[in-house]
Amino acid sequence: MAKINSIDVYCKICKTWSQAPLFIRDTETFASMVASGNTTNCPKGHIINSNKENFRVRSDDGGFRGNDTF
Ligand SMILES: [Zn+2]
Repeated sequence: MAKINSIDVYCKICKTWSQAPLFIRDTETFASMVASGNTTNCPKGHIINSNKENFRVRSDDGGFRGNDTF
C-alpha cells in the first residue's frame, strides 16, 4: 500500500485530464474501487468507467497510467 498524491481521470470525449472526483488516499483503496465497476464523471458530465485504464495515479510508489489514456 502506498499513499496516493493525485488521481486524474481521462475523458475520451473531451480528450482532457481532470482531477478525479474521488477521495482515495491509498493504492489499496483505489484497487478495490476500480474493481467495483463504478462510474465517474468528467467536469462536463460525460460518464467514465472507473476501471484503472482510464486513470492516472501519482503515488509514493510511483503510480501508473492506464492503457486507455494514451
Ligand atoms: Zn468529457
